[in-house]
Amino acid sequence: MFRVWVGVMRVLVVEDEARLADLIARVLERERYEVDIAHDGDAGLERALSGRYDAIVLDRMLPGVDGLVVCRRLRSAGVHTPVLILSARRELDERVEGLDAGADDYLGKPFAFTELLARIRALTRRGDRPVLPAVLRAGDLTLDPRMHRVERAGREIALSQREFALLEYLMRNAGQVLTREQIRERIWGPAAEPESNIVDLYIHYLRKKLDDDRSESLIRTVRGVGYMLRA
Ligand code: CA
Repeated sequence: MFRVWVGVMRVLVVEDEARLADLIARVLERERYEVDIAHDGDAGLERALSGRYDAIVLDRMLPGVDGLVVCRRLRSAGVHTPVLILSARRELDERVEGLDAGADDYLGKPFAFTELLARIRALTRRGDRPVLPAVLRAGDLTLDPRMHRVERAGREIALSQREFALLEYLMRNAGQVLTREQIRERIWGPAAEPESNIVDLYIHYLRKKLDDDRSESLIRTVRGVGYMLRA
């Protein structure tokens, strides 16, 4: 997980303005970065989820899934690649919103390429240090976002990517009730069918895997509201 060689840095550029995307790519390639480009949110998210990049330059306004949603989904899927959001909207609230979505930095458009490069250097430097979140714990349950590993009472539990994201979200909010809507929006995004029982289904999967034959489930149902992980 920790890079010990000095290799080529890979950067993903997610930007729908093709000319700007190409320009950013050229500038980065001149600095010896390896660059991939995605022109919409869905393609960007799919590539970013691979976790193979050292940094992601992410335009905020994108066709399809927007930049903030891409960022949130990456984080809830346990991908902690540094993200720099680009946006024409420079207001303070917008910046705060971007950082709250899990972005590491925010750069207003138009920007100078020297500044973009400096910020990417800073982000990738930071990436060499273990800034990744620590292991989450709740009772005898542990979740390591970095290693993508879950254990209960020392026994490893294999989870699908969605199950992992759901459990991580519950653990980060342990002791607080999360509504079905919050969970659905966070894990499946705004496109998920509001009437579907997907949240209940995945809670059921998680309980089966986590609780084994224990009499009390780690995940409490709060009737008429949603779910809560016992703190
Ligand atoms: Ca755009």
